[in-house]
Amino acid sequence: MTSLALESVTVRLGQVVALHDVSLTLEAGARLAVVGASGSGKSTLLRAIVGLLRVDAGTISIDDRVVTGPATFVPAHRRQVGYVPQDGALFPHLTVARNIVFGVPDRASRSRLVREMTELVALEPELLARYPHELSGGQQQRVALARALAARPRMIVLDEPFSALDTSLRAQARNAVIQVLEDSGVTAVLVTHDQDEALTFGGAVGVLDRGQLVQAGTPRALFDDPNTPAIAAFFADACFLPAIVAGNVATTAFGQVRVRRQHVTDAGVARIMVRPNQFAVDATSPSPNARVHQVTWAGSSSHVVLRPTNGEEQLTIELSAGDVSALEVGDLVTASVVGTAVAYLPSPAGGDHRAEGLSVVDDQQHPTRSVDLADRSVPAA
Ligand code: ADP
Ligand code: MG
Repeated sequence: MTSLALESVTVRLGQVVALHDVSLTLEAGARLAVVGASGSGKSTLLRAIVGLLRVDAGTISIDDRVVTGPATFVPAHRRQVGYVPQDGALFPHLTVARNIVFGVPDRASRSRLVREMTELVALEPELLARYPHELSGGQQQRVALARALAARPRMIVLDEPFSALDTSLRAQARNAVIQVLEDSGVTAVLVTHDQDEALTFGGAVGVLDRGQLVQAGTPRALFDDPNTPAIAAFFADACFLPAIVAGNVATTAFGQVRVRRQHVTDAGVARIMVRPNQFAVDATSPSPNARVHQVTWAGSSSHVVLRPTNGEEQLTIELSAGDVSALEVGDLVTASVVGTAVAYLPSPAGGDHRAEGLSVVDDQQHPTRSVDLADRSVPAA
């Protein structure tokens, strides 16, 4: 059964198109993490699903029933969607126990539900009589989750549930929440600005960029076959090499590379994306193609900056400790690519790589991985 379906949903808020033509489906019991920068439309997406705002176009269905559509708007309290808002939003004047059952009309079942939910979210029973300000951030988060689950929702949506927690608590809280969702079997959508959080949520991942869902799929698909160079660089370090592509073979300054996926309309001038650990370096080759510019030890591997002998720009690659031991700055080497690549159109004219990047800078000043494609490019052969 399809638990959630969005078809071409567009939401305008004032002058802003907060969601643009967003479509996605989620099977019952599945989990989806949507990642995007601040302002990319994450909260808007959840509020549209929950029924806290109307859409300008498109439909939203829950359990195959249209809840938002051109002629339909089922109000939030009749959607049975549990909502954990961005700030947790516990009622400060109610105890933990009363917070948990706040939305449960049947008084007779309340104490049993409190017991059940407390167990489900692994909350210590002695906390039930406390008030929210007497709890840690992680505990408050679990109470918010218990409250959302106590109403027996068909689906639960979580808005950046871990962003207020310390880094040390975050992984622990995340694992606890994932366990609860697993145990309860409820369909879940989580939004976050944190790539790693999205990848480890344990289901499909969607990337929201300025209101558009630019890609959705398994974490593996996003990593191996990113739709754009910006998505490639968003989830992990990426190297981009100018290339000439013919059929499924790319010719680069570092030799020929098989292309596993083409995002290029015409064969010809392109750039390919490979991961920094896809390089092999031969220091004894008679026809070197690069010079070692810098070697930085990083434990089990090392980061090696290469400059192709035919260009000025540089490329950071990653070599395992064994491969790097004999390398010194200034060495002439032959670098080659191991494995396959994804091909894209070349960088835009003028070399302003940033213009095509995801908007990943978060206005809450959370550190996010930068998408500085220029750092990792080498000039054409
Ligand atoms: P996120 O949760 O990813 O940070 P939001 O969904 O809150 O993003 O906001 C998406 C976009 O809509 C942003 O550009 C934001 O400034 C804008 N926006 C949000 N709420 C309103 C509103 N009530 N009126 C006008 N614009 C809004
Ligand atoms: Mg938000």
